[in-house]
Amino acid sequence: MGFIRNWKRKKLDRQPFPDSWRRIMDRNIPQYAKMNSGQRDKFEQMVRYFLAEKSFEGCGGMILDEEKSLLIAGLACIPLLGGVSDIYPYLRSVLVYPSEYHAPYSESGVDGVVTEGVESRSGESWDQGVLVFAWDEVAYDLRHPSDGANIVFHECAHQLDYEWGATMENFAWQRRDGEPGMAAILKSSYRKLLDKMDRGRPVMVDEYAATNIHEFFAVMTETWLERPDRIRGAWPEVDRVLQEFYQLNPDFS
Ligand SMILES: [Zn+2]
Repeated sequence: MGFIRNWKRKKLDRQPFPDSWRRIMDRNIPQYAKMNSGQRDKFEQMVRYFLAEKSFEGCGGMILDEEKSLLIAGLACIPLLGGVSDIYPYLRSVLVYPSEYHAPYSESGVDGVVTEGVESRSGESWDQGVLVFAWDEVAYDLRHPSDGANIVFHECAHQLDYEWGATMENFAWQRRDGEPGMAAILKSSYRKLLDKMDRGRPVMVDEYAATNIHEFFAVMTETWLERPDRIRGAWPEVDRVLQEFYQLNPDFS
């Protein structure tokens, strides 16, 4: 498996990255414009692997053209630039709906009563290796690259959380002797967020982060990648663990 993949990647490496793709990236992904030439080479290689190795599927009448797939792949590869993952090894498919889609849900309440219904969603990440997006949400995020919210960054953070168990208690990425691990820092920051919200204080990220520790990690990641200044200012310890985890300076400077 690894051998065939490497052989296919070597073949891809021999093809030039099309100039038309570069123009699309330049116009739409500000992080790409800021990358130095080494980062650009690496990024372009990852985007090509992503497009070749994951299957893209338009759903609900969505016609997925090359530009849309390219932009989703481009956004998905931004968090990987420091080397945190070899192109999401568990991810197989990217499903894209034109707009919010409906999905059945079932939820059990504190009283044990299970509620079932249908809800609208604009994106999700399944641990079985599927990412789902509403294209209009992705397009909105492309038009608003510094509002601190990005559905692709968010769902990709969930993929990395599955891959590494980044929010699990025993996760010890880059732990140094005597220092709390990343999960411990995320957990204490999460408690701080709940406390700030209780007291009506600003938290500088989408309050959806309060849902649970996994959403906290995903929301922190998307804001950090678009607005590192906000996380650095309000959540310096989160900034530090995200830099260590992603091995990335989100300012690209
Ligand atoms: Zn989420």
